[in-house]
Amino acid sequence: MTVTVKTFARLADAAGALSNDRSARFLGGGTLVMRAVNEADPAIQTIVRSTDPGLLHIALSSGRIELGAGVTMAAVLAERDLAFLHPVARAVGGPAVREAATVGGNLFAPSPYGDFATALLALDATVTFAGGMGQRELPLDEFLGRRERASSLVSALAFKRPAAATFRFTKVTRVHPKGISVLSIAAQLPLASGRVTGARIAYGAMGQTPLRAKAAERALEGRTLDVAGIAPALAVAVDGTSPVDDPIASAWWRREILPVHLRRLLLDAALA
Ligand SMILES: Cc1cc2nc3c(=O)[nH]c(=O)nc-3n(C[C@H](O)[C@H](O)[C@H](O)COP(=O)(O)OP(=O)(O)OC[C@H]3O[C@@H](n4cnc5c(N)ncnc54)[C@H](O)[C@@H]3O)c2cc1C
Repeated sequence: MTVTVKTFARLADAAGALSNDRSARFLGGGTLVMRAVNEADPAIQTIVRSTDPGLLHIALSSGRIELGAGVTMAAVLAERDLAFLHPVARAVGGPAVREAATVGGNLFAPSPYGDFATALLALDATVTFAGGMGQRELPLDEFLGRRERASSLVSALAFKRPAAATFRFTKVTRVHPKGISVLSIAAQLPLASGRVTGARIAYGAMGQTPLRAKAAERALEGRTLDVAGIAPALAVAVDGTSPVDDPIASAWWRREILPVHLRRLLLDAALA
């Protein structure tokens, strides 16, 4: 089977090529899409790529962070000012995968992949798309639920920098240090007078895509991060989840261990 590779200098042109061809896939770092091509996946007949430098940009300010969709996990790890995201980037595959794997590609990686997307969901990120009609934005939350994701070209992700020490991440794997997720949890836990206000918690591998733990978020509102304060959140930790059975773990096991790891994360106890 022949696969056509189309390279565009402008992202808008790449977006046009992607939206006009259902057999086309955008090439990020290629860790998944090239594996599919090598396995002769008949659904992929065209690879669209772009040399637009905007894909690689990292814009850091005290208030806002913007990452081009082509920024790799290795590039995140090289940025000292993104130290709070280093545990997340380090959790994606081994060193070779991290050199290529992009933050944009992570939004499309099937569950149980998607560790970085889980963190971005807890950070309330917005997704920017390239298109012939100009750029448009959507909350990541909304984007992850959409069916027509495959024909969109993500150009960047943006989010407010979390206040110091409010962002937490953990990943549970069977193989250390670079195993695939049994599950992952990311949380942004702002405090006012020692009480949680406006928590955002996201789970990876607990559904078809990373998802918000909305019941746990609500139950944490106004509570303290101690054993008594987090008990209501743990009681509803699995609400709204729909994990799958796969060779890594059963859905039953994922539901069983989720509250255990959420407890550790919320108490900031030694993360497994
Ligand atoms: C050995 C191995 C280990 C891995 N371990 C992990 C892990 O621990 N955690 C984890 O989360 N993932 C893991 N992955 C999956 C994958 O490497 C990452 O999810 C990575 O971030 C995907 O990004 P990519 O740039 O390589 O995507 P690609 O392979 O380039 O693309 C994947 C999909 O996303 C689409 N896409 C890519 N970029 C864009 C864009 N900008 N706009 C629109 N569509 C786009 C592609 O068309 C394709 O459908 C692993 C993969 C391998 C092979």
